[in-house]
Amino acid sequence: MSKRDYYEILGVSKDASKDELKKAYRKLARKYHPDVNKESDAADKFKEAKEAYEVLGNEQKRAQYDQFGHAGPQSQGFGGGFGGAEDFGGFGDIFDMFFGGGGRRRDPNAPRQGADLQYTMTLGFEEAIFGKETDVEIPKEEECDTCDGSGAKPGTKSKTCSHCNGSGQLNMEQNTPFGRVVNKRVCHYCQGTGKIIPDKCNTCGGSGTVKKRKKIHISIPAGIDEGQQIRVSGQGEPGANGGPAGDLYVVIQVRSHEFYEREGDHIFCEMPITFAQAALGDEIEIPTVHGKVKLKVPAGTQNGKTFRLKGKGAPNVRGHGHGDQHVKIRVVTPTNLSDRQKDLLREFNEISGNQATDEHEDSFFQRVKRAFKGE
Ligand SMILES: [Zn+2]
Ligand SMILES: [Zn+2]
Repeated sequence: MSKRDYYEILGVSKDASKDELKKAYRKLARKYHPDVNKESDAADKFKEAKEAYEVLGNEQKRAQYDQFGHAGPQSQGFGGGFGGAEDFGGFGDIFDMFFGGGGRRRDPNAPRQGADLQYTMTLGFEEAIFGKETDVEIPKEEECDTCDGSGAKPGTKSKTCSHCNGSGQLNMEQNTPFGRVVNKRVCHYCQGTGKIIPDKCNTCGGSGTVKKRKKIHISIPAGIDEGQQIRVSGQGEPGANGGPAGDLYVVIQVRSHEFYEREGDHIFCEMPITFAQAALGDEIEIPTVHGKVKLKVPAGTQNGKTFRLKGKGAPNVRGHGHGDQHVKIRVVTPTNLSDRQKDLLREFNEISGNQATDEHEDSFFQRVKRAFKGE
């Protein structure tokens, strides 16, 4: 039997990245998984895709395949069977997708913790700095009240699955290019639960859970920052067989601000001042998230000079004081001058001897002057 090209099977190009391969494989696996697709050739297509991915998903095997084609992996003696399941996302990986985690469950009747949930919350710049108390509505699975989570109609009981004797797993033998392999697979008669429910609860259809929108109170601490998470214990999906619920993780995003920028606990801003203010010095008002603050700009302040307003930054989210606000001065060159302003500036220029001077240090202008003279 001549084999199809592995790249062709997965529908990717020869230079596909690992991610592209994985994506293509997952798509096919979802489509042809025998538990899902009952068409007669689905199992074969599933196996074909799996074999292709096992080779292409492994760098070493892929290199061999690229060089030697189908003869490569076998003749080169890759006898490792399915041992490297981690490398290429074997069955466990797929069952994670189908059954929401714990693909290779040992005992389906053991208490199991519910899945964690993640919720993304976007805060305004100042909301993140000062924190807030808020309620969010989250759609989540809750235990069904009608059947108390058993999935069976009230007054009826579930039975042990006769196909897997309650273990939730079936042994599957498979002939593969790497030899005969026995795989434990999730029992598809009972979906791995080990139980069959003859009379299903009408409310939840036998799943034991229903989707509800639940209001959850969340305390956002002052000083929280982009990408940080708040864990709300016990507000994830409910557990099974008496296991604890998972947790809810609220992931924080912070909107940017038109004047402030934040880095950790420090806030940065740029403050425009006029040429005259910079030259003569002035007291200016600076906005901070804590209100206005007066800042003395000394005479002769240069463009780009930074001042620090101590304690005017964000509070540390762990309670270690406050950051500072750093104010960078931007000296604005005047535009649209009136005739009188122009006259005054021309006069100023003549008195200055048409030179920018800095009496205190070796100024930028002096360096420029020397560069012109070639010193
Ligand atoms: Zn079963
Ligand atoms: Zn129910």
